[in-house]
Amino acid sequence: MGFDPSQYLELTLVERVDFSDDLAVFRVRAEQPVDFTPGQYATLGVRTAEQDRPLLRPYSVASAPGTRDLEFFIERVEDGALTSHLWSLDSGATLWMRERIVGRFVLDQDRRHHVMVATVTGVGPYLSIARAQQQALAAGRRSTPHRFLILHGASRSWELGTYRERLTSFSQTVDWLDYIPTVSRPWEDSDWAGERGRVEDVIRKHLDDAGFPLDDTAAYTCGHPKMIDKAQGIFQRVGLPEESIHEEKYFVERSEASA
Ligand SMILES: Cc1cc2nc3c(=O)[nH]c(=O)nc-3n(C[C@H](O)[C@H](O)[C@H](O)COP(=O)(O)OP(=O)(O)OC[C@H]3O[C@@H](n4cnc5c(N)ncnc54)[C@H](O)[C@@H]3O)c2cc1C
Repeated sequence: MGFDPSQYLELTLVERVDFSDDLAVFRVRAEQPVDFTPGQYATLGVRTAEQDRPLLRPYSVASAPGTRDLEFFIERVEDGALTSHLWSLDSGATLWMRERIVGRFVLDQDRRHHVMVATVTGVGPYLSIARAQQQALAAGRRSTPHRFLILHGASRSWELGTYRERLTSFSQTVDWLDYIPTVSRPWEDSDWAGERGRVEDVIRKHLDDAGFPLDDTAAYTCGHPKMIDKAQGIFQRVGLPEESIHEEKYFVERSEASA
């Protein structure tokens, strides 16, 4: 079957902000405001000369819903089919996105405390959720805030991108958000004075410090599959019930995928 444009929204790339050779924020604009539930992912891509259908991959939306502007935090994968294309695009380029933004990695409304763990680009859905709560509080659509503890890991601090500054200042303006960035290769990052270690290794300490009641806490893990497996084991050992532990795995490791 050929390409049916009625199933897709046409987006314009407004800008790409590079944090390193292989990490960037893509800001795109749709013709109409786009709605979704914070935490969900879009199916986004490009049309290539070789293929009839667009080349698409899922990407979590990092921006809040209800505007024309969408933001994605994307890692370039070596020899990756789509990301190689994305890194060749200039501002003004056209991207395509499936009309429906979907996914179940959204705020667990049964709990009021949320510990959210991410590797690098996996912080996107948490930012969307936090921004949406801020807007709901400001508009009076929510009266009591949910509490969020976001733990964000990377090998080096610059891989946390602009999200580190944005979430740090966000956490200083509200009393319901704590943000802990952590770096696992501080010896390659001599100016880094923050938390050290892999994100899964600092969960226990920060969860204890936050004092979240376990019977009212949901846990989220997003990004690298190895981190997710380890973090989930920690949450289970802490005593969180399975139904309050949520995950969004961004990929299967190549060796596992071909096994
Ligand atoms: C629900 C969901 C949401 C996602 N959200 C994001 C997001 O917000 N940001 C983002 O950057 N990615 C996200 N991803 C991953 C994204 O969909 C693509 O898999 C990734 O961009 C690679 O696409 P590609 O076509 O360039 O590579 P492909 O040619 O499709 O990939 C080649 C191989 O690389 C491996 N691979 C894929 N991603 C990575 C990675 N990050 N590190 C190491 N190996 C990898 C896989 O094993 C894959 O088989 C998400 C995935 C899912 C399932």
